[in-house]
Amino acid sequence: MRNVLVVLSGPSGVGKGTIAKQLVERNKDISLSISCTTRKPRDGEVDGREYFFIEKEKFLSKIETDGFLEFSNHFENYYGTPKDFVLDKLVKNDVLLEIDVNGGLNVKKSYPDAVLIMITPPSIEELEKRLIKRNTESIEKIKLRMQRIDYELEKSNLYDYTVVNDDLGKAIEEVEQIINKEKNIDN
Ligand code: ADP
Ligand code: 5GP
Repeated sequence: MRNVLVVLSGPSGVGKGTIAKQLVERNKDISLSISCTTRKPRDGEVDGREYFFIEKEKFLSKIETDGFLEFSNHFENYYGTPKDFVLDKLVKNDVLLEIDVNGGLNVKKSYPDAVLIMITPPSIEELEKRLIKRNTESIEKIKLRMQRIDYELEKSNLYDYTVVNDDLGKAIEEVEQIINKEKNIDN
């Protein structure tokens, strides 16, 4: 069995974070990667838990030293996957990345064995409800995030798997099944 690098992507508010958190709680062999970002922490977010919150200058110098497996700039902030952090974890565990579509496709370029899973909502209306319910962004920011939905979903066909997050428990089980199947494939 191999350790797999799994990428979870999908529109903001679809439930990636919720799925990832529960997967890690239920499976001691799966470890969650922590991305770096230049955005400010939201209420309740802790540095080194949800993200490594770093200054733009530090982020740019990490780009210079090839310190990211991939990075992107969206919603006016930088987000990136720290290379050493992930590759070190992968020696012992499966590693889960929760990143946007372009990030996922870039990871696949630099690490072709990565398994890309797109999480989709049961409907756009439901997605909007979840974003509003989460109550972490202003209406303007929610609108900005909604504009990206079609773009994210269009790229689903480039991903290895698509999982609809309607019933949360079922979606988690589906992701678990994919990971177990992939662990048994020799590359
Ligand atoms: P993302 O990480 O993709 O931006 P979150 O995990 O923060 O999304 O989920 C957004 C909101 O939707 C949260 O309030 C979460 O509790 C809720 N949520 C997640 N999955 C489901 C589901 N299957 N059914 C209903 N609500 C859900
Ligand atoms: P948020 O600000 O809501 O936490 O995240 C905004 C977006 O950034 C989400 O689509 C999330 O998946 C993406 N993101 C988080 N970390 C990374 C990363 O390391 N790289 C890339 N490319 N995107 C990321």
